[in-house]
Amino acid sequence: MTPHECFRRVHRRLHMAAYLVPRVNRAAWREEWIAELSYAARQSPMLAVALADGLVRDAIMVRRLHVARRIAAIDWEAPEACLRVLTFCFAVLSLASAAYPQVRNLVLSRWGVGAFFCFTVLAVLALPSTVVTSRFSACKAYSGDAATMAQRWSRWRFLAAKLVLSVLSCYLLAVHVTWLFQRLLGAQADWLLIACGLLFNVIAVSWAFTDQRQRCPTCMRSLSGAARLGPPSWSLLDSNATEEMCDRGHGLLHQPQWQTSWFEYARWLQLDSTWSELFKR
Ligand SMILES: [Zn+2]
Repeated sequence: MTPHECFRRVHRRLHMAAYLVPRVNRAAWREEWIAELSYAARQSPMLAVALADGLVRDAIMVRRLHVARRIAAIDWEAPEACLRVLTFCFAVLSLASAAYPQVRNLVLSRWGVGAFFCFTVLAVLALPSTVVTSRFSACKAYSGDAATMAQRWSRWRFLAAKLVLSVLSCYLLAVHVTWLFQRLLGAQADWLLIACGLLFNVIAVSWAFTDQRQRCPTCMRSLSGAARLGPPSWSLLDSNATEEMCDRGHGLLHQPQWQTSWFEYARWLQLDSTWSELFKR
């Protein structure tokens, strides 16, 4: 291989590998590699070619570290993270539906419109029972006494967004499942869609209410630091509950282990602004 061919090969590999490196690190990464390759090329052009074999592997490693840092930096307790995950699931299922012409035609057909209507009715019917089974109705944090109108509005908006995104995702998932078994079941596949509608809606709506109950009613962040209070034998004489707190210092949620006449519902203890100093980051 002539020195000119060596330089062309190294240059091509450097150019290709640079696309794998995140944009923020690209200029520094390229400078560093050009310096190393130039030093190797001064010794021997073939040495530079051998060194260039590691370009792609190094670029992939830089990309992996970048992704790992981005994931570690996500604030999973924040309500925005929850909505982003739901939006991502919905986007993936929508793309999967668009990618398969059979599923796309199924969703856009009259059958798809009827199935969506049926799915929405089942989701609405699942609401009353799941409010009870998820114990959302037994959580006094959401009675709204200590919240401003803006906070109450943001809670309902967040809950509505979760319900809409999860039910829509479940609908697309149910269509995919029905499509997979359509050849096997024939006309009976409609019953499979109804069964999926019942099951998926109950799971999705229950999750939305349970997740809402385990969030701070002020900032909607997930409660953390669960601590057990009192042994079970203290049920009649003292507290037997789990206590979770908002990591921004808005309050504490006491959830009784068992319902008793004096401690029936989960209680929210709102902390005043003097506590915020303790939770500052
Ligand atoms: Zn909070």
